[in-house]
Amino acid sequence: MTQFVVVGAGIIGTSIAYRLAERGHSVTVVERVHLGAGTSGSSFAWTNSNEKTPYSYHLINALGMRAHRELENEFGDCPWHHGGGAVEWRSNTDEAQELNERVERLIGWGYPAEWISAQRLHRLEPALVQGASGDAKIAYFPDEGWVDPSVYIEFFLGRARFLGVKLRCETVTGIDLKADKVIGVRTASGKTIGADVVVNCTGRWANDLGQDVRLTFPLAPTIGLVVVTAPAASGVRRVIRTSGINLRPDGAGRIMLHSEHDEQGLTLESGADATDPVAAAMIERAARLYPELSGVRPEAMRLSHRAIPGDGVSAVGPVPQVSGYYAAVTHSGATLAPWLGQVVAAELVGGAPEKALQDFRPARFY
Ligand SMILES: Cc1cc2nc3c(=O)[nH]c(=O)nc-3n(C[C@H](O)[C@H](O)[C@H](O)COP(=O)(O)OP(=O)(O)OC[C@H]3O[C@@H](n4cnc5c(N)ncnc54)[C@H](O)[C@@H]3O)c2cc1C
Repeated sequence: MTQFVVVGAGIIGTSIAYRLAERGHSVTVVERVHLGAGTSGSSFAWTNSNEKTPYSYHLINALGMRAHRELENEFGDCPWHHGGGAVEWRSNTDEAQELNERVERLIGWGYPAEWISAQRLHRLEPALVQGASGDAKIAYFPDEGWVDPSVYIEFFLGRARFLGVKLRCETVTGIDLKADKVIGVRTASGKTIGADVVVNCTGRWANDLGQDVRLTFPLAPTIGLVVVTAPAASGVRRVIRTSGINLRPDGAGRIMLHSEHDEQGLTLESGADATDPVAAAMIERAARLYPELSGVRPEAMRLSHRAIPGDGVSAVGPVPQVSGYYAAVTHSGATLAPWLGQVVAAELVGGAPEKALQDFRPARFY
């Protein structure tokens, strides 16, 4: 039986750990903070394959969306997964043109995307202020939705532990090699955890395990910002994307807000304080769409790093020159996790390489 060490208990690591355990393997998950403490805990977590290019990247995200839906056949109720589709309109001319081209491209790729009337938009979102979309064309992506990463992680790690997976709260500080073969990891407490295979699922920290330079590859993380409101009866039902703000429900009446515009100029040192005027300004913009959000206070502002390999797409696979070391580092992890869990586990236990991953191998960086 192969001994696996999965480093990182985010949405990717827990998915892979569970699927390895399901196949009867010995798995230890090593996490330095707590489950979901990394990017997964600060994600907008919109399940989509909407703005993904090239086609190969679109395809794996579409497979991720399908894998989320299929979890319902496997487990029944999946309380972390919310459907309802996403609606989008753009008031800015350049953005409207981009949306036009994107919808046509997505329809051409067989992705569920359609134009809807303002009346249909208001039937989908009755609390939206009348005329919110103005003269803009309104796109609807019926298969999209969002996930609650922490709920997902708890479920999968719970299942994994039931199958014997061990969780160790330790910081990995080094990868042990014997010649060109991985034999385990070292931790900050001075312990060694033996392994035949180490799976690096530490996202934006993937190069910080004190590892041999042969095991690193370029990363280009960007700063992400989300704001969560206090509970309010705002009527937001699904993922809404506009030129000014993106929003979606976040449980118990809370709304999660995201705006790429407000991320510009931030650093992790910027601090994340719900009293920051940026948070109030984001809610104010959302309240122009959903009047019941007016005066609702921000409950949390979260800053984090997106885990993005140097060329902007996923890095999933073994690294060359060293055996027993596999990396699974990607943006769009909330969408990709259930599919990556399945296909990465299958590869790790000796299955055929997954064709859909061929453009995303870390080997391209070496
Ligand atoms: C603002 C924002 C919006 C996003 N929106 C979306 C979206 O709409 N849709 C989508 O699909 N994706 C989205 N993403 C991306 C998605 O959230 C990430 O791709 C995903 O969460 C990455 O998960 P992960 O498990 O790889 O990494 P993480 O969740 O970061 O997990 C890595 C774990 O490794 C641990 N770790 C790190 N170093 C060590 C060490 N040395 N020893 C032990 N443990 C260690 C960390 O503590 C952490 O828990 C968004 C991200 C951000 C920031």
